[in-house]
Amino acid sequence: MMNLAFSIFPLSPCPLVPLSQLNNLCQFDVLVVGAGAAGLYAALCLPDHLRVGLITKDNLSLSASDWAQGGIAAAIAPDDSPLLHVEDTLQAGAGLCDREVVEFLAKQAPVCIHSLVEMGVAFDRHNKDLALTLEAAHSRRRVLHAADTTGRQVIATLTARVLERQNIQVIPQAIALNLWLDPETGRCQGINLFHQGQVLWLRAKAVVLATGGGGQVFAQTTNPSLSTGDGVAIAWRAGAIVRDLEFVQFHPTALTKPGAYRFLISEAVRGEGAHLIDERGRRFTFDYHPAGELAPRDVVSRAIFSYLQTTSADPATAHVWLDLRPIPADKIRQRFPNIIQVCQHWGIDVFHQPIPVAPAAHYWMGGILTDLMNRTSIPGLYALGETASTGVHGANRLASNSLLECVVFGAQMANLLVEGGSMKDELTESNFSLYPLSFILSESDWLSQQEKIKLIREDLPRLVWQCAGICREQKGLEVAIAQVKIWQQEFATLPLSQYLLKLPPLHSASFDLPDAEQQLRLWSETRNLLDIAYLILKSAAFRTESRGGHYRLDYPQPDINWQAHTLVQYDNWSKSEFLTN
Ligand SMILES: Cc1cc2nc3c(=O)[nH]c(=O)nc-3n(C[C@H](O)[C@H](O)[C@H](O)COP(=O)(O)OP(=O)(O)OC[C@H]3O[C@@H](n4cnc5c(N)ncnc54)[C@H](O)[C@@H]3O)c2cc1C
Repeated sequence: MMNLAFSIFPLSPCPLVPLSQLNNLCQFDVLVVGAGAAGLYAALCLPDHLRVGLITKDNLSLSASDWAQGGIAAAIAPDDSPLLHVEDTLQAGAGLCDREVVEFLAKQAPVCIHSLVEMGVAFDRHNKDLALTLEAAHSRRRVLHAADTTGRQVIATLTARVLERQNIQVIPQAIALNLWLDPETGRCQGINLFHQGQVLWLRAKAVVLATGGGGQVFAQTTNPSLSTGDGVAIAWRAGAIVRDLEFVQFHPTALTKPGAYRFLISEAVRGEGAHLIDERGRRFTFDYHPAGELAPRDVVSRAIFSYLQTTSADPATAHVWLDLRPIPADKIRQRFPNIIQVCQHWGIDVFHQPIPVAPAAHYWMGGILTDLMNRTSIPGLYALGETASTGVHGANRLASNSLLECVVFGAQMANLLVEGGSMKDELTESNFSLYPLSFILSESDWLSQQEKIKLIREDLPRLVWQCAGICREQKGLEVAIAQVKIWQQEFATLPLSQYLLKLPPLHSASFDLPDAEQQLRLWSETRNLLDIAYLILKSAAFRTESRGGHYRLDYPQPDINWQAHTLVQYDNWSKSEFLTN
């Protein structure tokens, strides 16, 4: 039998770090976790005298931001105004937006677009002007785009600017595990992370979580595989207040074809005139809402869900059709080259046949509670982008407001004041005490542990999709909560969990195991997915009404008494004060 060892040893200043990458960089002024639009833009806006570490668990080119298709909203047309943008956002948010924050977003939008253009983002133009399209629930054409790969254009530009900066150190393939809090003050003083098969501790005067959404907790999602809700889980475990986690936006039109991933067919396609039709070619969404295909996303998703319930199709593959043929062919070619290409890859010619589509989890409105300066309830910890709950989206996000939120709030990091002077508890050898020796695990135990983690990773999203998907009810939620608790207990007793969860601060570990990096990532993402599943399910059970992205079959109407946020800290759920806006 082969023994596989996790060796463990105390941390000294940068001892374990591959010196080529992290030499002398165990301490930063600011550590930004996540390199999507929020993390990249924040890193660029931070004052350039600060030493910034930018970590991402993949490489810089992979994020949900990179996958964004439709565009980014800003009231820049002559017939538009930030006030109209505010009204549309509040309307979509179904009573839970924070008006002051929405006003800030809409007012800053044109400024941020200008800054993106200055940085080199090549949005599409109509003659010399920036081209604008219409998306669902917007009262004006205000969505800027770069064909149907807007996110790629934005991310490529921001990445190029980041790589030019001397004060930003990019650390790819590094997975944040936990916050590192000062035990006396409760202040965030850094994180620990997996990097190249090791656990390391990085200290920073400020930590910014910009880890994106958690779509992977649902079996059907448009999100990339990295969207495992890490930031929310990490912050919640450390005691940060998280908010409105039950609100998930289900996008109505994800490609639904056996073997294909749930590729998003952008809202913009319906904005340009595509029809949602049933088997017989009938535009059935008008049966559910007078705006038909252009009703808010939750309404269209539920319309499709309800329609499919009336058919006998297998729920896993059931779909309706999105017909692009009402759009002139030239327009399709010009606006949606990526959609044409991906559909072609799956054998669909969008010029001659409709696309099979069904809803999928798309955007998480809830997140870590933050204020206008991105501060969380933990001193020294900031949150940004989809992982934050700024108050902009309320119970439902207006299309194309999320990339905008990333840049508007990323820009706020320019105002960050970090404490000067030397850091408390400088890292010196004398701080460390030795932790017990190696932990030994047989190869067969290691393999059966991996098998268990893989099983949870497969079953959990199916359960959450079934019980906390488009339509929810108490009984199903309770069953799912009980199951998730069982999985959490099983997970906690796995040898790897026992070992890692007991690792004291400032102690490092190195894993000389087959496939270590991949397995450690699976372990940490599964842990986070279990936590966010628990949080979403419990929050969905807590809110006994329907509103925005949260629909309860047993409480199908909005309830004025629930015009309030769901607040969670550790295992305590509470309602905020009543909101008026
Ligand atoms: C298919 C698709 C299309 C979309 N289209 C639009 C659109 O047209 N307009 C719009 O406004 N919005 C759109 N959205 C939503 C929008 O893209 C996201 O809300 C937004 O990009 C989120 O940005 P972010 O920076 O917060 O997170 P992301 O872009 O998801 O980036 C997260 C980053 O965090 C890193 N990370 C995560 N966990 C860890 C960890 N533990 N340790 C280290 N790093 C970590 C990841 O590697 C990544 O770098 C779309 C989303 C999808 C999925």
